[in-house]
Amino acid sequence: MPEIKLLPQEISNKIAAGEVVERPFNVVKELVENSVDAGADNILIEIVDGGRALIRVTDNGRGILPDDLENSVKRFATSKISEIDDVYSINTFGFRGEALAAISSVSDFSLKSVREGFDAFEINVNFGSEPVIKPSSIPFGTVVTVKNLFENIPARYKFLKSSTAEYKEILKFIKQFSVLNEKISVSFISDGKTVFEVFKYESVKDRFAKILKEKELIYFENEYEAMKINCCAGLPNVQRFRKDMIIIGINGRVVKDNSLVFTVIQAYHRLIPEGKFPVAAVNLTIAPDNLDVNIHPAKTSVKIYNARDVGSFVYDSLTNALNEKKLNETGKDKNFKTETRDYENNFKQKAQVTYDITENFETSSLFEPLESLEVTGDNDAVGDFKVIGQLFDTVIVCEIENEAIFIDQHIAHERILFEKYKKYGLTDVASMVLVEPLLVDMSDEDIIILNENIDIVKKFGFEFEMFGKNTVKITSVPTSLINKNISDEFQMIANEFYSLKTQKNMDYAVVTMACKTAIKAGEQLTHFEMKKLVSDLFNSENPYTCPHGRPIIYKMKKEELFAKFYR
Ligand code: ADP
Ligand code: MG
Repeated sequence: MPEIKLLPQEISNKIAAGEVVERPFNVVKELVENSVDAGADNILIEIVDGGRALIRVTDNGRGILPDDLENSVKRFATSKISEIDDVYSINTFGFRGEALAAISSVSDFSLKSVREGFDAFEINVNFGSEPVIKPSSIPFGTVVTVKNLFENIPARYKFLKSSTAEYKEILKFIKQFSVLNEKISVSFISDGKTVFEVFKYESVKDRFAKILKEKELIYFENEYEAMKINCCAGLPNVQRFRKDMIIIGINGRVVKDNSLVFTVIQAYHRLIPEGKFPVAAVNLTIAPDNLDVNIHPAKTSVKIYNARDVGSFVYDSLTNALNEKKLNETGKDKNFKTETRDYENNFKQKAQVTYDITENFETSSLFEPLESLEVTGDNDAVGDFKVIGQLFDTVIVCEIENEAIFIDQHIAHERILFEKYKKYGLTDVASMVLVEPLLVDMSDEDIIILNENIDIVKKFGFEFEMFGKNTVKITSVPTSLINKNISDEFQMIANEFYSLKTQKNMDYAVVTMACKTAIKAGEQLTHFEMKKLVSDLFNSENPYTCPHGRPIIYKMKKEELFAKFYR
């Protein structure tokens, strides 16, 4: 008896499902892309419970012929190619013919569709069961409903994230997709509420502006040989803490392409400080024969055969557009004032922030009153240390017995605060009330993150409340933020939480908080502050490495230094 069997389709579909569909977001992506391939210019996406309970995509595309319905949920069944040559020449969102087969094998699946001039039908598949087809009523297009995803596969079900996390991922995709497809109206409803909506007549720039809540954007188009770019990008003063608003699309498809993201960042080199990122929606049109869209089952990445040409085309187009904007506007229209604007903004913000020190002034370690200091005497000594001074506004130099000691001021302060917060809890963070509350605009994603971590952020010394949908009203801040750009620091904290894997992990919160509230490199310190820092450092449990593991202290022996002078 032969031992090798062909797997029944039911099983092979489930295996394929593992590759095509990992999370509700993948289902949304596949369904939306099918709608685009069907010529739809109006797509409605509805989800319940982050897509875990229900995902429904309704479109006004051409629909499926009644006789094709049964095949639509079969593996390797597609209307998009018939000959192998087609694989290299057509321009669709993909034609692996796997998505519906995969999705219907791991969900309670239903698809209703009608083609003009034909009757409407629906096909139902219950977790990979035999498809059942029956007449239906639907005025136009196609509606696909996916319920209880992965309920039949505990191993996968277990890996679904929280509803909010899945929702976030879906929202991100829908936004990116919407920016890149300006001729399509898109509505997104989550748990019965309209979350996001764009209309056919809204341009790429309108859409991007809506998503970012930024107006300072440029738009340009360019063409070279068979490549086309249309792009909406932020002026250099539009800066983010994350790269996730660098959206790359190829022929309308949202793709993950790290090297193109990097190319965009490079185009802003010297315009945007390190650690911050530009925003851009780059939509490329590339000849289909230069592209393989089917390399990845989930089709999130594509292979560009002439990637280098495409890279330099994007770089040149973007740098030219940015330069042109600058030249034009320094001439007549004075809207583009990169450096001055930034400065003005900072200045305004600082001017606005007045502290009500009498009311609510607790002290932070660096601003403790002199009496409480253990550093005594009129000399520069802290215990056995003699504090010499500060190098490059970053490194404190001390002398002890036979050694010169170099201390990184930021890392040292981070260690001190880390231990302090760990010992006394974050409630110890000194906070003060702002006389005038500060309004900070934040992205949808950041708002979600803030809400998820509200207790921890409050413990960090911030008091805030929601003020409208995307604005946070900050009423108190940690004292350590005096003279800093509060809105930046606040954003930065939201950003830290974004990368936080295990939520509500206090240790992590402590590390983050210590890092965020510590004095920075480049800040000039008074001699008094240096002495305080050195004293606190050597009173800490582990003065030698920071919570992230970086060294705090570098030592050089007197002999070593003298040897440099042949002494
Ligand atoms: P693929 O998109 O790779 O061809 P799918 O499994 O995603 O494979 O879909 C199978 C087929 O079902 C498609 O080729 C298309 O003919 C049809 N189809 C799926 N969704 C739609 C839709 N929204 N409108 C019209 N036809 C659709
Ligand atoms: Mg498809």
